[in-house]
Amino acid sequence: MSIRRLPAELINRIAAGEVVERPASALKELVENSLDAGANQVAVRLHAGGLEQIEVADDGRGMAPDEMRLALERHATSKLPGDAIDRVTSFGFRGEALPSIASVSRLTLESRARGSDGWRIEIDHGQASGEEPAALPPGTRVRVQGLFDKVPARRKFLRSPRAEYAACLDTVKRLAMARSDAGFTLDHDGRRILTLAPAEPPARVAEILTHELERHGIGIDCAREGMRLTGVISLPTFNRGVADRQFLFVNSRPVKDRLLVGALRGAYRDLIARDRHPIAALFLEVPLEEVDVNVHPAKTEVRFRDPSAVRGLIVGGLRHALDEESGRSAAREQAAAPVMWTTGAIYDAALNRHPREGGDPAKQENWVPAFAGMTGVAEDHRLFTQPPAARAEAADEPVPRFPLGVARGQVAATYIVAEAEDGLVIVDQHAAHERLVLERMRSARDGGTVARQALLIPEVVELEEPDCDRLEGAAADLAELGLEAERFGPSSMLVRSVPAALGKTDIAGLLADLAGEIADLGGPLSLRDKLDLVAATIACHGSVRAGRVLSVAEMNALLREMEITPRSGQCNHGRPTWVKLGHGEIEKLFGRR
Ligand code: ADP
Ligand code: MG
Repeated sequence: MSIRRLPAELINRIAAGEVVERPASALKELVENSLDAGANQVAVRLHAGGLEQIEVADDGRGMAPDEMRLALERHATSKLPGDAIDRVTSFGFRGEALPSIASVSRLTLESRARGSDGWRIEIDHGQASGEEPAALPPGTRVRVQGLFDKVPARRKFLRSPRAEYAACLDTVKRLAMARSDAGFTLDHDGRRILTLAPAEPPARVAEILTHELERHGIGIDCAREGMRLTGVISLPTFNRGVADRQFLFVNSRPVKDRLLVGALRGAYRDLIARDRHPIAALFLEVPLEEVDVNVHPAKTEVRFRDPSAVRGLIVGGLRHALDEESGRSAAREQAAAPVMWTTGAIYDAALNRHPREGGDPAKQENWVPAFAGMTGVAEDHRLFTQPPAARAEAADEPVPRFPLGVARGQVAATYIVAEAEDGLVIVDQHAAHERLVLERMRSARDGGTVARQALLIPEVVELEEPDCDRLEGAAADLAELGLEAERFGPSSMLVRSVPAALGKTDIAGLLADLAGEIADLGGPLSLRDKLDLVAATIACHGSVRAGRVLSVAEMNALLREMEITPRSGQCNHGRPTWVKLGHGEIEKLFGRR
């Protein structure tokens, strides 16, 4: 067997197999070239999903005729001035896209550098087929026709024009998000699909994902070890059956990297079912020496020097944002109608410029995620992955006139579902009970009759010395609430009694929380305010936890006590303890109104 050198044409075609799999990947290379050429405006025109024709026109710096000829040669690039391949900031650097595409299509390259005339070069499946002057505005226009027409092996793997079009649209969106400073238009079969004016990144992302993240987004901005992560992600309750709305960028380069996708998954772990996917546009900026972009012909994957640091930043940053939002969105719920349960974060301002068409808040699509939020963004995220766990009670007796209705069942051992005369009531049992305990303690204290429960055997609690100092300093206040604790050596406290309202309690945990609370308060709060907050901490320890199964009698007792207790509509952290869906709202949900 003799070894022979492959002819240039064949080499280009082999490269084409790697760089250009389908119209969308050719389109990606062309738009990247336009952006690398400093274009402010990129116009894309497709016919039949790019199978018949792909055209990309830009107003970038253009090329002189001899540069154009060079550009069509393999491994010819203007983007690596030295040999510093580890420091590239342009999209391209391999110099194989144009010759590869030209080897499997009919390609027309037209270009005009500023201050000179335009020129046109035509290539037919790798063969030069003509050159001539051309009239065009400064910039470059590339037209690709009949991609893979003469490469049956490839042609076979192409999908319908519709599917290829979808992939092209996705490509344009990704690049438009990566480079929001440039304007874009996209036409398909003569119809204008996209018009994007130059914008700031959040506004660009919002414009492209507006319907998705208008109300269900969380803004991200975090940094660690020289890396920075910005962007927007969806609330866990706003998810999709396919992972097609995840836009990830490394130093402005759109990537589909396994590590990043995995980190995104990891951040939502136990917040979202395994077969559901969040929506995200995330921009990671890392020092150039931390990342190798030359690991994939199409440059869609990257390799990090320290993958675990990248993962840590993403999982940690997103997790933090998701945790914060779970409290925040719930806290707004009661003020607004239930339809507004989930809310956008820092991108609101930008999003508001593109109000949702026909923004009727009662539309079904708003409800679906809102309803998911009802059972979801609670304190126990594991609820999402648990099988349904509702119990229901027979509903044959008439509903008495209680504002919060009568208990009909319990959902996920966390929410009480009650039927009232005018609607459906859902109560967060832990939040509600916590409030009741607090109010009980407060009124007992005001009446000077806090019931305390002496411990048979006083309990010794080990704590850090500063925490002991704090508790010792507050001993008199705590005693007023029924908690008698005294210093017992440098790093322990001796507890003699606890508030009777508490029942059986984890005393060590309570003292640690109280010490933290007192440290946080420190400032110029009145004694009364301090006592209130301390009482709240105590109450939290004494209340019915989410996850406890309640009897119908217990549920109804809780509802009745809520009705006569002041401020029972809010838990001690400002979140609602119950919500009501009026009959009218239920009817709207089912389109009966
Ligand atoms: P690469 O982008 O990796 O350099 P390409 O084959 O995509 O390789 O392009 C080869 C060269 O052609 C580029 O380096 C650039 O100098 C030139 N070029 C390609 N497209 C354009 C364009 N739209 N405007 C100006 N120059 C371009
Ligand atoms: Mg290129």
